[in-house]
Amino acid sequence: MNTIRHNWTKEEIITLYNKPLMDLLYEAASAHRLFHNPNVVQVSTLLSIKTGGCPEDCGYCPQAARYHTNIEGNDLMTVSQVKAQALRAKSSGSSRVCMGAAWRNVKDGPEFDQVLEMVRTINKLDMEVCCTLGMITENQAKRLAEAGLYAYNHNLDSSEEYYKEVISTRGYEDRLQTIDNVRKTNVTVCSGGIIGMGESVEDRAGMLVALASLNPQPESVPINALVAVEGTPMENEKPVEIWDMVRMVATTRIVMPETQVRLSAGRTEMSREGQAMCFFAGANSIFAGDKLLTTPNPDVNEDMKMFDLLGLQPQKPFIKKMQPETIEAENSQYQTLGEKPKWSRPGHVIERNLEASTKRK
Ligand code: SF4
Repeated sequence: MNTIRHNWTKEEIITLYNKPLMDLLYEAASAHRLFHNPNVVQVSTLLSIKTGGCPEDCGYCPQAARYHTNIEGNDLMTVSQVKAQALRAKSSGSSRVCMGAAWRNVKDGPEFDQVLEMVRTINKLDMEVCCTLGMITENQAKRLAEAGLYAYNHNLDSSEEYYKEVISTRGYEDRLQTIDNVRKTNVTVCSGGIIGMGESVEDRAGMLVALASLNPQPESVPINALVAVEGTPMENEKPVEIWDMVRMVATTRIVMPETQVRLSAGRTEMSREGQAMCFFAGANSIFAGDKLLTTPNPDVNEDMKMFDLLGLQPQKPFIKKMQPETIEAENSQYQTLGEKPKWSRPGHVIERNLEASTKRK
């Protein structure tokens, strides 16, 4: 149990997932205690630094420009706005700030330079900095690393097979390539997925096989429950049952015991009892703040009351890995290459995505 395996099969993972719940929880909690303090949970804050207007067609996402949702878009935030929000997050117990931009991929230029400055600014506040900016090249990953980035998030979302039912504008291979580009630096990898999109247990297991076979495994794996937003292709999906969430967290914990497993979107639908079961099953991170990019999230005071009730402590920053150094822009070893990588665009037809994009408001 205390070794990291990269050769999990889908069948083994399905068997784990379907175990009697008490056996599954016991095994997951035991694996958790070998690598983590079960009474410590990291609190992270997710900031949407550029919202909406995204050219992609991810079927779950209200930020895709083609769907008729009611989200308010905004241009890239300024460095000082981000700094103010990071300070607020720090004072309410967050040790990590994750900045998300609704981009297909990073483009070299002033906006990326501004994001690099945000990374430098937050790292200097002694907080872990994570970014989720879409696909990135090796050079862009190196520039982020130099600025002091701690983690890069790029979710696999689902199994390779089911991914084709969710997104037509990007390929699974490109997701893996971006993760590989991040791995060429000392930035840690955050990659997970979403349950409740209509996928099967086999697909959930398929995603875990893909993540667990990465060597090293991602340092962080977010498990999201779909928040079905009106206007998106998935608006009619049924809410995820807490039992599915608990099983998914527990299975992730056993398959990737050293990883930080993050309870992400969908927490507003979960009771405290449900969340406590997820912590017991090995979840050791939550996102704080009343919004998760664009969807609702529990209030930070409510979370702190839950921590008190359960005797949980927020995790301090840089417990798992040392704080990276920040190199100033003028001392950078890397040039702006102005690359135009050919990320794939499979372009297959996903009926429900098409329907949602042509539907009248
Ligand atoms: S998930 Fe990201 S890439 Fe996909 S539509 Fe939303 S913002 Fe764009």
